[in-house]
Amino acid sequence: MTGVTVGTARAVEHFDAVVVGARVAGAATALLLARRGHRVLVVDRDRRGRDTLSTHALMRPAVVQLQRWGLLDHVVASGAPPVRRVTFHYGDVPLPIDVTEPLYAPRRIVLDEIIVAAAEDAGAVVRFAVDVTEVTRDRDGRVTGVAGRDRDGRTFAASAEVTIGADGRNSLVARQVGAAVTRATPIRSAVLYGYWDGVEAAGYEWCFNVASGDARGGPAASDGATTGGLIPTNDGQVCVWAGMPPSRFHRLQGNREAAVHAILSETTADVARRVAAGSRSGPVRGYPGLRGELRRPWGPGWALVGDAGYYKDALTSHGISDALRDADLLADALDAVLTGRTAPADALSHYEHVRDDLSIALFDATSQVASYAWDMEQLQIQHRILSTQMQRETRLLWSRDDALVAGASAPR
Ligand SMILES: Cc1cc2nc3c(=O)[nH]c(=O)nc-3n(C[C@H](O)[C@H](O)[C@H](O)COP(=O)(O)OP(=O)(O)OC[C@H]3O[C@@H](n4cnc5c(N)ncnc54)[C@H](O)[C@@H]3O)c2cc1C
Repeated sequence: MTGVTVGTARAVEHFDAVVVGARVAGAATALLLARRGHRVLVVDRDRRGRDTLSTHALMRPAVVQLQRWGLLDHVVASGAPPVRRVTFHYGDVPLPIDVTEPLYAPRRIVLDEIIVAAAEDAGAVVRFAVDVTEVTRDRDGRVTGVAGRDRDGRTFAASAEVTIGADGRNSLVARQVGAAVTRATPIRSAVLYGYWDGVEAAGYEWCFNVASGDARGGPAASDGATTGGLIPTNDGQVCVWAGMPPSRFHRLQGNREAAVHAILSETTADVARRVAAGSRSGPVRGYPGLRGELRRPWGPGWALVGDAGYYKDALTSHGISDALRDADLLADALDAVLTGRTAPADALSHYEHVRDDLSIALFDATSQVASYAWDMEQLQIQHRILSTQMQRETRLLWSRDDALVAGASAPR
């Protein structure tokens, strides 16, 4: 039996794809499939427009994707300021890099909604406040869809040719399909962040330091190592973050704002002074980190995209870029499957191969940075690796055949 029911009154429907999770990975995958004419249902347990636990500095590959899909104008129109300079502060030594094409850091409430609205415009059905509790299967074990409940407790079930887990780093879909972990790291790092008014930021500013005499360069995290940063965003605000090994995070007591100031002061004095001159607006949120994992992203009747299939530490600010990249790769593969051009195993193993080829160096360099077991020289080596990988990703994304987007052209 195939169909979707919410409550008792709704018509039974079947979809080409059902996507669990309506944020960057899920909404973008739905958008790209719907633009190719596929019938797509996207569900998310959150209410529409809710913020999520994440800062939102977009790296070049994410900006490229939004431009290719015709969505960058909406980001610009949201008032997210163009970022024309990225400054790495190694302690109190700044290394500014001017970027040729601007980057942007829209709030997640802005970015996610832009992609969701575009998916709806393309014909995807999007339902919020629907909690998926189960992945359904046929007698042969092939995934056939999902079941769950809406906010009012009414049961819900939908079926589809393919069920896509875009349900983030604690993915229920990945767990229930038993997606194998193909690469993992025990390393994780912690962060505090919040929004400030009146802070001067020269674009993205990333700060790193190790308390003198505490540079390890070995396998153990240095408790004296700290990080921090400034991310200019909507409404003239700056997202201020302070990073640390989990050991220090778990020892924090009391006032989180004071902890942000203390960590920034230990990291880069000039940035700390500028933050102290501003005023905090809203809470300081904390995240203790999670171990990185790359999972096999497909199987009979299912696929994974975004953090659900590939989670790496937040410290290198690359998760949104990778989610948008992989939405594109997966939508291509599924389009080939749904139109009968390519056998599922061929199309989806190609997706896995390209995703892993583009991700593994980033995953490993991110783990190194998140380990807090570096001195400045070792850290700069990892930053150069990340930069090279990002350039590779950007070239690949621009080189992709683009029947979907009119008018986007690669910067010269
Ligand atoms: C503290 C922090 C800072 C970060 N900073 C950056 C940054 O500056 N730049 C960057 O690029 N990346 C950053 N990241 C990473 C980025 O947030 C993620 O990579 C990105 O959100 C992944 O998108 P996603 O769509 O895969 O998952 P998510 O954004 O996690 O979305 C998953 C969605 O699935 C829904 N869902 C989950 N389970 C169910 C269910 N059972 N039923 C229905 N719905 C469900 C959730 O409600 C959620 O809306 C940061 C992450 C963290 C934690």
